[in-house]
Amino acid sequence: MLRFDDHLAIAVSGGKDSLSLLHILAKMKRFRPKTQLTAVTVDEGIDGYRNEALEIAAANCKELEIPHHIVSFKELYGFTLDEIVSRARGRGETELTACAYCGVLRRKAINAGARQVHANKVATAHTLDDEVQTVLMNIFHGDIMRLAKEKPVTSEVHPLLVQKIKPFCEIPEKESALYAYVKNIKFQDTPCPYASEALRNDIRGMINLMESKHAGTKFTVFKAIERLRPALEQTAAKEKFRTCTECGEPSALDVCKCCEMLRHVR
Ligand SMILES: [Zn+2]
Repeated sequence: MLRFDDHLAIAVSGGKDSLSLLHILAKMKRFRPKTQLTAVTVDEGIDGYRNEALEIAAANCKELEIPHHIVSFKELYGFTLDEIVSRARGRGETELTACAYCGVLRRKAINAGARQVHANKVATAHTLDDEVQTVLMNIFHGDIMRLAKEKPVTSEVHPLLVQKIKPFCEIPEKESALYAYVKNIKFQDTPCPYASEALRNDIRGMINLMESKHAGTKFTVFKAIERLRPALEQTAAKEKFRTCTECGEPSALDVCKCCEMLRHVR
């Protein structure tokens, strides 16, 4: 995942996983003088929640002497997440949850932030638990081809898409949390007020139950997909990227998902 001369943009939300990752990468950097680190935090614009996280992220960066870059929805898209959600609800559009908007917009924001700081890779703190939950969610949604695309090290598919790596993909969430506690790292522990991913919560409960009854289940699922992925990749049609006619970013369709969502909000 890592090269000695990488410039990593670390996606730091202010939660325990991303701050554990920040601290560990900062520690590694001491022995890799050519490695550059920049923390990137997305300010979605969630009143009463994101400000605390921004302060915590900034304090950790200051302590570790890592530059901190903030990308905001308001600046990028013209609206905060709060505004997007209230506009959509005001128009009676209830199909998409706040998490659905946020997931799409944040992905693009992190990529934009990484490009702004000229990083060559984005490191995110997705843990083994996150990865296994996503695998099962994709299966439950019938979205099998996403198993091929969402991997711990993304393929370099487009010059405008910064490569993503997940250094914690084989670290159970409990261990990432333990690291934060043992190292006395200050993190935000209040959940996002919009957190409502019902399917993910059910799957998390199910996997944790399986893990407690059959130790090693999480690793087994992760490894199974790792072995299956090359075959899926061969089956998946090579995705052709076009350029979004509205924002100029890479997109599978004429208009990217982000711009499509924002059309409904404007
Ligand atoms: Zn677009």
